Amino acid sequence: MSEGDLDLSSDPGSPLPPQTGGIGRRFVGIRFVCCDVYTRVYVNQTETAYEGRCPHCARPVRLRIGPGGTDARFFTAY
Ligand SMILES: [Zn+2]
Repeated sequence: MSEGDLDLSSDPGSPLPPQTGGIGRRFVGIRFVCCDVYTRVYVNQTETAYEGRCPHCARPVRLRIGPGGTDARFFTAY
């Protein structure tokens, strides 16, 4: 008896794990005032915040998703 005996040829069709967060990853638009550029930042893996960086100077930005969240889709990073 060996553990981890995988039989890939007879997969009965294991159900896919349910997708959380709907279709694709959520993102918001954000404008970095530091370099006056606009980009998108995507929600992190735990969906607790949007995280990204300025494409020019790599300044990090983190937008926490609070209880109830916000419907705002555009932000400005100072
Ligand atoms: Zn910048």
